[in-house]
Amino acid sequence: SEVALDSLIVEVADQFRFLAENKSVEIETNVQRPLTFRGDEARLRQLLVILLDNAFKYTPFSGRIEITGESRSHSVYLSVADTGCGIPKEDLPHVFERFYRGDKARSRAQGGTGLGLSIAKWIVEAHHGTIRIRSEVGLGTKAEVSLPRAHERQYPALAGRFAGRRNRRRR
Ligand code: ATP
Repeated sequence: SEVALDSLIVEVADQFRFLAENKSVEIETNVQRPLTFRGDEARLRQLLVILLDNAFKYTPFSGRIEITGESRSHSVYLSVADTGCGIPKEDLPHVFERFYRGDKARSRAQGGTGLGLSIAKWIVEAHHGTIRIRSEVGLGTKAEVSLPRAHERQYPALAGRFAGRRNRRRR
């Protein structure tokens, strides 16, 4: 179904704003309107929550988080950038692995399972998209997602769910 990504991004950002204010972290949204994409709304919401949750968790007091969403020629581009602790080069190749957690994360008192980014990757790939993380220790991290328009109507990885919805509508 057609997902209003513009409102979805603003909605998810608002969910984090209260937490962010307590930490003096600024959340900025930079979203093109309208921005729509045919996909699984619940999953795309979950993707944004995972990326924002990470940005928030790994960004210290008085940091900044910027979320962008824009339509490109053949895709929708989403990014979540933070001014947090960053990810060491040797950890970067592993962040999408299930249960992988960086040293900083492991030593954190509040939990985390190391599943977030593996789920994020699964959601993006179910939409035939790509996700990559760029990061610099001490400067911050940027997660970039590209969702191709060409596959908007095809969801092999989630075929069951979508087939069900489509059939329901046809009746
Ligand atoms: P959870 O499953 O609760 O999200 P997690 O954050 O540890 O736990 P992932 O989201 O899979 O797990 O992230 C894997 C690891 O990548 C983290 O443990 C952390 O070391 C690193 N990481 C992810 N996002 C960021 C970020 N924005 N800034 C710094 N490090 C990050």
